[in-house]
Amino acid sequence: MRALVTPSIESLRPYEAGKPVEELARERGITDAVKLASNENPHGPSPKAVDAMRGALAEVSRYPDANAYRLRARIAEVLGVTMPEVVQGNGSNELLDLLVRTFTTPADHIVFAEPSFVVYRMSALTHGVAFTAVPLANDVHDLEAMARAITEKTRLVFVANPNNPTGTHVGRAALERFLRAVPKDVVVALDEAYAEYADAPDYASALSLRALHERLVVLRTFSKIYGLAALRVGYAVSTPEICDYLNRVRAPFNVSSLGQVAALASLDDAAHVERSRKQNSAERARLSSSLAALGFGVTESQANFVYARSPLPAKELYEALLDRGVIVRAFGGLPDHVRITVGTRAENDRLVAALREVLK
Ligand code: PMP
Repeated sequence: MRALVTPSIESLRPYEAGKPVEELARERGITDAVKLASNENPHGPSPKAVDAMRGALAEVSRYPDANAYRLRARIAEVLGVTMPEVVQGNGSNELLDLLVRTFTTPADHIVFAEPSFVVYRMSALTHGVAFTAVPLANDVHDLEAMARAITEKTRLVFVANPNNPTGTHVGRAALERFLRAVPKDVVVALDEAYAEYADAPDYASALSLRALHERLVVLRTFSKIYGLAALRVGYAVSTPEICDYLNRVRAPFNVSSLGQVAALASLDDAAHVERSRKQNSAERARLSSSLAALGFGVTESQANFVYARSPLPAKELYEALLDRGVIVRAFGGLPDHVRITVGTRAENDRLVAALREVLK
């Protein structure tokens, strides 16, 4: 018999998501678990988004607006771009895969960093596109090495800024140099899922650097600071030409009507975003110093999570924390590191108390 799938798909493993609290309840009978595993907003969505969804519930028998007109119009207005420069996605995740499907073939090549968001690798493997995963340098994207990894065949480069899982960022000057160095015909995708959490003085969104590279695509999401992860809403900002191609390939009705109205309403709650950002910055600092005091090697983060070298093997620590009702992330390829989402003050205190117990 012929193989059912390509070797490339054979090598894939299902995406490992953070463990849901219900699963921990089922498996270990722990009913008050705290999930610090998926970089969600611990303060929840904006009440305005929840109200908007309530108002839209009775209309779910209708397909959503396939062009997400009102949402894209508002995003364009907020960012000072035009509507043809905005494409909505079923989470930014869909847009990452859409970039691979739209702009590469199995004869091409993709460049991204390692470790970085696993979906870049998953999409490349799914579509059988060769790739180079360039190691981070001291947990930060090595943009010079990434520029050197670009070959004649490279069609697409992914840069997560801030990066997942390390939380590190590349500063404006390095990003500018990189955008100038990448050949004009390569699509550069700047994945800014955590941009709203970044507060370093030298952090610059690529939205302000669009003049430096024509084929730049900036990806944003409503899953993180906007607290709408379950609704799956993200967007890309790029040239009308690139957006037009993405629109030809994307699935129709890719963002639900509830997602569209909630995202739209959440853009009108700047106070919710500001509060979330402030609380995250304060708790990220407090959590980082508590972890350092417990013997973790903490990487400086610009996101809503902290990447830390564990004094115990990561898997062991992960299991011991699960027993105490705290869910973090340990990764297969990173046996001594954990990634911990910044929770509420109470959730972070619970984590630190559990760690004290495990490490004593
Ligand atoms: N990019 C990065 C760097 C992420 O960490 C994530 C979420 N884990 C995503 C994209 C995808 O987020 P979503 O599909 O929910 O927008």
